[in-house]
Amino acid sequence: MNNISQEDYLTAIFRNLDDAGEIKPNLLAEKLEISNAAVTDMLRKLSRDGFVDYKKYKSIKLTNDGESYAKNMLRRHRIWEVFLNQTLGMSWDKVHEEAEKLEHSSSDELINLLEEFLDYPEFDPHGYPIPDKNGKIKKSKSVVAITELSENDIVKVIRVNDDVKNLLSYITKIGISLGKEIIIKDKLEYDGSVLVKIDNKEMNISNKIASNIFVEKIK
Ligand SMILES: [Zn+2]
Repeated sequence: MNNISQEDYLTAIFRNLDDAGEIKPNLLAEKLEISNAAVTDMLRKLSRDGFVDYKKYKSIKLTNDGESYAKNMLRRHRIWEVFLNQTLGMSWDKVHEEAEKLEHSSSDELINLLEEFLDYPEFDPHGYPIPDKNGKIKKSKSVVAITELSENDIVKVIRVNDDVKNLLSYITKIGISLGKEIIIKDKLEYDGSVLVKIDNKEMNISNKIASNIFVEKIK
């Protein structure tokens, strides 16, 4: 499979599977910001090639081949991100775009060498686990989105969605990074935004931002 967009589809499906290992086609369309018709077209192709189980109006599942393909792409992507960030010093809000290109053009051999050079990193710069050569993914801490928290919770940032345009550069500006402590001051029902305290400064973050930052409760 040499088609970049098919590879990106498989990765997007894998990243957005629910607890039952499925995703609804319309939700996938929403995540990829494309039409339902475009998703249906691609799902037919992926199903014909043996990468997804798909029947009209039903949730999508990855086949074993689809799952290992998606994990391999994520492995490539995340190892490149570690290299760009750790070794070359590129900031965490820039590495995703570069890795998106590099992941398609590197051989498995190069990725294995990079992994060894980096001393087998377990997480990418945004806190996502890196699948190993055999597709095994280390069980990471259980995290929740900031939108799921209650008033007065104190939390630590564990993971930030790197697939949302401009999110990382924005949250960097307001002082959020991995490991950062955040206090939840209030949840505003009318628009789903959250009032938080970071470095002793109170600020309001939108529902979209809050739903893409994943944290561990420390108090
Ligand atoms: Zn990324």
